[in-house]
Amino acid sequence: MNLKHKLQHPIFATLAQVAEKHNYPTFIVGGFVRDLLLQRPNKDIDIVVEGNGIEFAKLVADELYDVKGLSVFKNFGTAMIKLDDLELEFVGARKESYRRESRKPIVEDGTIKEDQERRDFTINAMSISLNQVDFGELIDPFNGQKHLQEGLIITPLPPDQTYSDDPLRMLRAMRFASQLHFKVDDASFESIKKNKDRLSIVSEERIATELNKIMESPQPSVGLELLFLSEIMKIILPEVDALQGVDEIDGQTHKDNFYHTIQVVDNTAETSDNLWLRWAALLHDIGKPPTKRFDQNVGWTFHGHEMRGAKMVPRIFKRLKLPLKDTLNYVKELVYLSSRPAALTKDIVSDSAVRRLLNDAGDKIDDLMLLVEADITSKNKERVKRYKNNFKEVRVKLKEIEEKDQVRNFQPPVTGEEIMTTFKIKPGREIGVLKSAIKEAILEGEIPNEKEAAFKFMIKKGEELGLKA
Ligand code: ATP
Ligand code: MG
Repeated sequence: MNLKHKLQHPIFATLAQVAEKHNYPTFIVGGFVRDLLLQRPNKDIDIVVEGNGIEFAKLVADELYDVKGLSVFKNFGTAMIKLDDLELEFVGARKESYRRESRKPIVEDGTIKEDQERRDFTINAMSISLNQVDFGELIDPFNGQKHLQEGLIITPLPPDQTYSDDPLRMLRAMRFASQLHFKVDDASFESIKKNKDRLSIVSEERIATELNKIMESPQPSVGLELLFLSEIMKIILPEVDALQGVDEIDGQTHKDNFYHTIQVVDNTAETSDNLWLRWAALLHDIGKPPTKRFDQNVGWTFHGHEMRGAKMVPRIFKRLKLPLKDTLNYVKELVYLSSRPAALTKDIVSDSAVRRLLNDAGDKIDDLMLLVEADITSKNKERVKRYKNNFKEVRVKLKEIEEKDQVRNFQPPVTGEEIMTTFKIKPGREIGVLKSAIKEAILEGEIPNEKEAAFKFMIKKGEELGLKA
């Protein structure tokens, strides 16, 4: 098959020219070829030459007068050129052999054929010639094209060797399955189960990268279920793995929180691209297994699971080397607040309850509402509709109160400075006491969120404390 017509960008002609002039057999390989056939956009173009990749990249850079920059990574034997929104990476063809204790192979120069043989999956092992004799020709030694049509993730070499050589490929298999909605070949899946403990030689950062790619895919449940079924979830996210299972006492069961959870993740993926909202969905119920109790009168309970779950989040983020600080706090707080809006739908909602939620959630309120709406996974259509309507009412109420009281990002209407000058006092505990009394009064609706009212209230409270204005 010839793909010349799909290589319209002038860079390909330039590459071909340089290849011809300086006698470098040159090929596009890997992800770009796969995505070209799938008509998926891809801006990363991997170029393999038989010969020195860095030297070739320098020759290409000379040819391009508006090139933004050539970067050379001598230690890796690679070079990169950024052109428009494209990133071209150049490397010499290589063959690899592996040692048991490391996923870093011993690398030697090789041919394009050997280079294609070392690749993880048949759909990633195709190349396109950029050489004059057969420009645009697809080179597909392992039936990658057929497997693309069948939607199959399958290795060019025997799976046990592939996964044992580089166990990161186990996660890559599931990640591609999730991104492309493909099936992992049965023999591969068996081999992954068998080799799962080899993951111990993969760094947490690499694991997290693949996990995030699963989470970013259109339907993350595909990859998450594969992680669970292969028992890799037990290794990398035991807290999520523990969600699976249904207990029964006195004929009473609770729902399977793992399958519920991955459905919630899919639901958030439908309404938002925010990766960390999806993480909040993945972790929103992790406090349930450790707080699960059976009560003769009320059945299964998970009291305090939000708090317990929120407390578990930092350990997970640290372990997987996910971003700490703001990102961690965002996820933790969403987990903590994940049942609050539902509580608001139960009774007649008081303004103060809404104000408190707004104040606690702050700027996260919109994402929190997306999360709780995603959390509705009942099979009962009537019930889903009723819950959705309840949340609609909560949204209306939130909007009303926010317009009226502006407590979303609460700024105290009276400052500590003002308290000190009014009562002629030095910094001390009274200031904190007065400030939180004012805040409480506003949230409870005793006074409006306004300067004048707050000032009057402060004077009254201060006098109760024995201060004189
Ligand atoms: P993405 O769209 O996520 O970048 P990709 O297929 O381009 O997907 P990369 O990680 O950029 O993935 O790798 C580029 C190519 O290098 C792959 O298509 C594959 O041929 C090869 N490759 C990458 N990682 C491995 C690995 N661990 N084992 C074998 N081959 C690999
Ligand atoms: Mg890539």
